[in-house]
Amino acid sequence: MENQPSSLGKGLRELRQSRQWSLDQAAAKSGVSKAMLGQIERGESSPTLATLWKIATGFQISFTHLIRGCFYQPNDLSSVRPVNEPKVTSGIDVRVHFPFDETVNFEWLELHLAPGAESHSEPHQGGVTERILVIEGILDLCLSGQWYQYSAGETVSFNADQPHGYRNSGLGVLVFQDVIHY
Ligand code: MN
Repeated sequence: MENQPSSLGKGLRELRQSRQWSLDQAAAKSGVSKAMLGQIERGESSPTLATLWKIATGFQISFTHLIRGCFYQPNDLSSVRPVNEPKVTSGIDVRVHFPFDETVNFEWLELHLAPGAESHSEPHQGGVTERILVIEGILDLCLSGQWYQYSAGETVSFNADQPHGYRNSGLGVLVFQDVIHY
């Protein structure tokens, strides 16, 4: 594996240093281990979606501020893909339609989950809400331990300052839009 720091890693290090936080302090704020944070900063680790959210929440920044408008791929954060050609290989891909904009306080993401893919998130910052529109497939949404199911064309909004998770238990791809308001 290459030791090339990704833009995510460089950005995270700059952000941490601008706060004058040690790795220990950043670990305490985010709940992500010091070792893992160091690996991410050096581009040695491809963090999961849940880990990225922990960092964004710990640093009290938006998700897209953290990933800098990159197309997030769990297995390769540094590569560039054509924005209009998302393809799901395995796991979870996140596309950024609109990065966080403080004049409107939201970011707009699109998530693609392969069959069987599942991601759980700890509570985001207080007051954060998510609005989801299912485009394709069936979304299993977990809110504070209770599962709900939504089909293509259906919408749901929820308070994201509670534990929540997404799962694709279908046989095909799951695609949904997610507007996150801070
Ligand atoms: Mn979330």
